[in-house]
Amino acid sequence: MDLFEYQARDLFEAHGVPVLRGIVARTAEEARAAAEELGGVVVVKAQVKVGGRGKAGGVKLAKSPDEAAQHARAILGMDIKGHLVEAVMVAEGADIAEEYYFSVLLDRANRNYLAMCSLEGGVEIEQLAEERPEALVKLSLDPRTGLDEAAASEIVEKVGFAEDIADQVTNVLVKLGDVYREADATLVEVNPLVKTGDGCIIALDGKVTLDDNADFRHPDRENLMDATAIDPLELRAREKDLNYVKLDGQVGVIGNGAGLVMSTLDVVAYAGEDLPGNPKPANFLDIGGGASAQVMADGLDIILSDPQVEVVFVNVFGGITACSEVAKGIREALKQLGNRASKPIVVRLDGNAVEVGRAMLEEYDHPLVKVVETMDEAARTAAELASAAMEGK
Ligand code: GDP
Ligand code: MN
Repeated sequence: MDLFEYQARDLFEAHGVPVLRGIVARTAEEARAAAEELGGVVVVKAQVKVGGRGKAGGVKLAKSPDEAAQHARAILGMDIKGHLVEAVMVAEGADIAEEYYFSVLLDRANRNYLAMCSLEGGVEIEQLAEERPEALVKLSLDPRTGLDEAAASEIVEKVGFAEDIADQVTNVLVKLGDVYREADATLVEVNPLVKTGDGCIIALDGKVTLDDNADFRHPDRENLMDATAIDPLELRAREKDLNYVKLDGQVGVIGNGAGLVMSTLDVVAYAGEDLPGNPKPANFLDIGGGASAQVMADGLDIILSDPQVEVVFVNVFGGITACSEVAKGIREALKQLGNRASKPIVVRLDGNAVEVGRAMLEEYDHPLVKVVETMDEAARTAAELASAAMEGK
């Protein structure tokens, strides 16, 4: 998950990285109040998860609260590279003498961390790396030691920071390393890291990407989530711990195991290719091994809440979970859902205890459930039902 600049600022502050005061505002009036509170010259900055805000007109200096309100009015609602500006940060203005660049990130290919630093910050770093690669110092870091004092000193020396600020910069880099490690980040970027007129080093703009796989170690992280940027169904699925991704088709898909679900999406898309309306998969949903009746119910509930869905295809290969359990799960789910279960459900079961599972569903004889033997046949049945429903509209 990427953080907004103001969230990165807060995270930096919590780890002792020097930052300037900043207040989030969602209206021009809030921006005026923020500027009054901060006093003096302020900067009004668009909060969008994309770089180059300055160039796009999303970063403006204001000398008075009135001017701050005026800038906020112009910036709020702006579209920056496809991102709608819904908030600005009003921050203390910095008296900038020099702008530097620093980042530390996860280097997957080399299985370590990579730190990058330059005396030429503020500009777009991709451009610098291309045009003047010698101006960008890169240092691989051993993940076991990370960005420790020794690594930070080495960077500062290689980059050639002036003597009077070298210690200060080293110190800030170590703290940014703390942010990277303690927050389980995969990217911490500061552009620009500035030297102010009176010789202070400050992180003026921060970009942080957190490793979602480490969310369980940070229970407070949910407040960071940008609810508006997530599909509401995906948000509900996440609350239920379901591995769900919304797609744009009509055939809801539930399967166990990511590989099986991926290939199910393929066979459904293939089956729908030549049918009227061209039905496609509506989602990815992996209920995993050992899925309980409750998980099946939650999954069906989410999928049936998608108004585009015309049919659900349950494709389970019984491994750890016996097919009899899956059959029970489907029955239980339909009981729980009651009237909300309103679309046909094509079920393909195979593997562990398949005969028992199929027999249970036959006996259950629910009008919406149709058991089909093979995956291809089931995909075709589901696609045809979806196609017919679409044509009927
Ligand atoms: P970005 O364009 O999205 O990377 O946004 P930044 O926050 O990095 O701001 C872009 C540029 O605006 C910086 O490189 C600075 O030159 C300038 N800027 C940002 N904040 C201040 C400030 O407080 N004072 C001054 N004088 N310039 C600022
Ligand atoms: Mn920047």
